[in-house]
Amino acid sequence: MEKRIVILGAGESGCGAAVLANKLGFEVFVSDFGAIAGKYKQMLDEHNIPWEEKKHSEELILSAGEIIKSPGIPNEAPIVEKAKEAGIPIISEIEFAGRYTRAKMVCITGSNGKTTTTSLIYHIFREAGLNVGLAGNIGRSLALQVAEGDKDYYIVELSSFQLDNMYEFRANVAVLLNITPDHLDRYGYDMQNYVDAKLRILQNQQPDDAFVYWNDDPIIKKELPKYRHGRLYPFAEEKEEGAAAYTEKEKLVFTEPVPFNMELEELSLTGKHNLYNSMAAGISANVAGIRKETIREALSTFAGVEHRLEKVADVAGVEYINDSKATNVNSCWYALQSMKRKTILILGGKDKGNDYNEIAQLVKEKCSGLIFLGADNSKLHDFFGDFGLPIADTHSMEECIEQAYKMAKRGETVLLSPCCASFDLFKSYEERGKLFKEYVCKL
Ligand code: ADP
Repeated sequence: MEKRIVILGAGESGCGAAVLANKLGFEVFVSDFGAIAGKYKQMLDEHNIPWEEKKHSEELILSAGEIIKSPGIPNEAPIVEKAKEAGIPIISEIEFAGRYTRAKMVCITGSNGKTTTTSLIYHIFREAGLNVGLAGNIGRSLALQVAEGDKDYYIVELSSFQLDNMYEFRANVAVLLNITPDHLDRYGYDMQNYVDAKLRILQNQQPDDAFVYWNDDPIIKKELPKYRHGRLYPFAEEKEEGAAAYTEKEKLVFTEPVPFNMELEELSLTGKHNLYNSMAAGISANVAGIRKETIREALSTFAGVEHRLEKVADVAGVEYINDSKATNVNSCWYALQSMKRKTILILGGKDKGNDYNEIAQLVKEKCSGLIFLGADNSKLHDFFGDFGLPIADTHSMEECIEQAYKMAKRGETVLLSPCCASFDLFKSYEERGKLFKEYVCKL
């Protein structure tokens, strides 16, 4: 008899894995400790896959030959602990799907910039006319795509949680953008555990695979000698020996495998962080053999990703930009750093112990006004109150846009880059960004 596969978590990845496992003829059972969304119940029912919600029935789960765990479920969850004690192998959906595809895998991880870079690489591959799928943290699950008809390439965004349960999976092109502290609550508050998870992207690489990474990241630099990896393609802002991409005199230079240049001004994504993301994407496409003309063109036509330095509208000579995904001070730093005009900065929300000193200098240089948008703005008043800038105190998006319209002068930019999570006033950063756009479009 084929082994029984149990899937924990019935979201995009779990349900995709269930459909693929079912198609392959395994006995499948899906269990979710929370409520399962309607569309996923429907998907499971259409394939006659048994499921349960709001509980984990041990007798149905611990009889598994293998468990596929959704990345959202922590390793310390009691049912996961019990499965481990019972010696049941636990893998991720990506690991599972990877066994049943011959497609080349371009995989992207890092603390910041994953979604942008993954989407950008996907855009270039599509523009090149390749048969390519977008998977991982964004888009549809890899497993579902493999089940529905395979592709030649997958561009896969991998979080550290997905990497945690990957063992045999091989990234033909592995991209590691940067490593800064994140999610430490899930790594026993030990940074090294998080770093080790990120570096798992290199496991199983063969000499003819490619490793694309930011050369100036001190952690990557320190860790690299410990690992076996494919051919190295580092990128750096300044020209450096061996760099596969760097900048020189207003040009972005790619050196290998095919050397070519483009004007920095042609890049559709702005800001230093996006320069790194564009370098990583350009190298990945270059390594895959995509023509330099196509890469150049695609890097200059990419429309960007929603809620990340997204240009919304120009109203009476004022540009409005939605960077709602900037939920920490560091991402706001990158956003401000990329502003070319005087900026009215909208910030505030649920503060995760922010230290605003990191952006103080840039606020002084670039901002002509501040709008606080949060349930409680007192910490922002305390910090920015004596900067000598006009300040508006707001508690709803409607009020915030009204104030922005009043405050901004022709030729200026209004930037929503809040440094904070959104949960005090909004459901999510997506809702915050959508409302921003809605009220701007009503102006
Ligand atoms: P992720 O998927 O890793 O969360 P995103 O592409 O969604 O990353 O970008 C999230 C935020 O992080 C953006 O709003 C931007 O301000 C910042 N960011 C993007 N790319 C980088 C980078 N390479 N380095 C540092 N910060 C970045």
